[in-house]
Amino acid sequence: MKIINFFLDLLFPKKCIVCDEIFEFKNRDKYLCDDCKNLFEIINSRRCKKCSRPIDSGNFCNLCSSKNNIFDLNYAFFVYDGIIPEMIHKFKFKNHPAVGIGLGKIMAENLDLSLINKKFDFIIPVPIHKKRMRERGFNQAEIMAREISKKISVPLRTDILFRIKNTKPQWHLNAHERENNLKNAFAAKKINHKNIILLDDIFTTGSTINKCSEVLKQSGADYIFSLTFSITHKNF
Ligand SMILES: [Zn+2]
Ligand SMILES: [Zn+2]
Repeated sequence: MKIINFFLDLLFPKKCIVCDEIFEFKNRDKYLCDDCKNLFEIINSRRCKKCSRPIDSGNFCNLCSSKNNIFDLNYAFFVYDGIIPEMIHKFKFKNHPAVGIGLGKIMAENLDLSLINKKFDFIIPVPIHKKRMRERGFNQAEIMAREISKKISVPLRTDILFRIKNTKPQWHLNAHERENNLKNAFAAKKINHKNIILLDDIFTTGSTINKCSEVLKQSGADYIFSLTFSITHKNF
């Protein structure tokens, strides 16, 4: 082992993002140990044709059959369940951007390329407000989006869509309150007939993705494909 590698390893050991097992130097590219890899299971049941939420029967979930979504299609990799909430929490609130890079790599690795069935111009992460950016130091969606951008060679853009209102966290809000909370929360620069991939960590009622899609379409976007790391079981 080169001496420089030895010190690098000592300073920045690469660990499993779930259990913190330290990898040997030759496995520095890994981000999940073999055991923890099994905790991430892509949704393989019947899905809603619009938002990809698991459903028992029919073509659409309750939410998508009762409302007109503005985004064109959403795809989620995992159900927001099991290890997923814990990992998102570790990443977002315990200040572990390395965990987010790992989660982004899990998305990129599992991305079914047949979903990218048209020419996409940009990948846009759902933005956070600049005040929150100062507190947290990073935008979780942007860190994940970077890995998808590398995988499919579509440029990541953070200079098109902005969160201009420092909205409340949505956890305890119902669908109606979410709508109000997100009123005038986003703004976008003019774009001309672009196909966009929007990226976020969790899809719940879809209100955030819809609001972002609304301003992007008003600004000239033609098609919005939303890619989310996880989706809740409950469709509110
Ligand atoms: Zn592990
Ligand atoms: Zn749906």
